[in-house]
Amino acid sequence: MKHLVNGLRRALLVAFVALPFSVTADNHNAKSPSYQTVEVTENIWMLQGKGGNIGVFTGDQGTVLIDDDYQDMSDALKTALKTFGGVDSLNYIINTHWHADHTQGNLALGGKVPIVAHNNVRTRLLSSQEIKLFKMVSEPYPVEAVPSITYSQKMTLHINGETIEIVHFPNGHTDGDSVIFFRNANVVHMGDHFFSGFFPFVDIGSGGNVGQMATNVASVLSMITEDTKIIPGHGPLSKKSDLEAFHGMLVGTSKEVSDMKKQGLSLEAILAEGLSEQWKPWAKGFLPEKVWINLVYHSL
Ligand SMILES: [Zn+2]
Repeated sequence: MKHLVNGLRRALLVAFVALPFSVTADNHNAKSPSYQTVEVTENIWMLQGKGGNIGVFTGDQGTVLIDDDYQDMSDALKTALKTFGGVDSLNYIINTHWHADHTQGNLALGGKVPIVAHNNVRTRLLSSQEIKLFKMVSEPYPVEAVPSITYSQKMTLHINGETIEIVHFPNGHTDGDSVIFFRNANVVHMGDHFFSGFFPFVDIGSGGNVGQMATNVASVLSMITEDTKIIPGHGPLSKKSDLEAFHGMLVGTSKEVSDMKKQGLSLEAILAEGLSEQWKPWAKGFLPEKVWINLVYHSL
């Protein structure tokens, strides 16, 4: 608790309670907080800790961080960043969306470095938020931990000779999602528009929708190549074929649930019937099949 320096931060910690089911894919280092560092290119890395995957981009002008994990990972994150010039070398932090497992590091790092995100991320972090599925409440963040640079459709950062396009895709995982394109390096950070290999969480209460997520993922697929390296919000470093498989799952499972609903089946009956055998592997790692069916059903 020593790193909690004020009441607001203490309130935030208390507000987050455990998920009602195991989230094995998220807990790479649950016992001793630390990061696994995965090299993406010679100057881009993926850090895997407890929450969402973090992107790190370094160069002569400094470092850009994409997402910053849970608050209880902040000491470990600062340690991991020493390899990349430390906290003092940070130029920008980008938040792909408002969720705690992508933004609580703002509490430790914000104020020292500007935070960039979609307008709706700032709005949500300034007010109380709730995710009923996870019985999770997020209290307002202090102003220094909230994005100070926001945009509505698209913005571009020019740093270290790279063109970083931050593009908003509406109402997919939430209502404030950004996908980050490194145009020269041919790398994409998807935020939570991509859970590589498993059913994703879609935050319908925050404006997310499974069908729109599929549409957005199709747009990203049209903007990348076979050689593009993809950092998913959760899961291993991926490539275009992995994102295509994820898109196929979104579309395929949505069609199955929609067809059953059109036949007049109730949600309870659809849950009892279940999805076809081909989608079973996607239930390993994060969301159970029944939770996924619920999210799809309520997105129709
Ligand atoms: Zn999320």
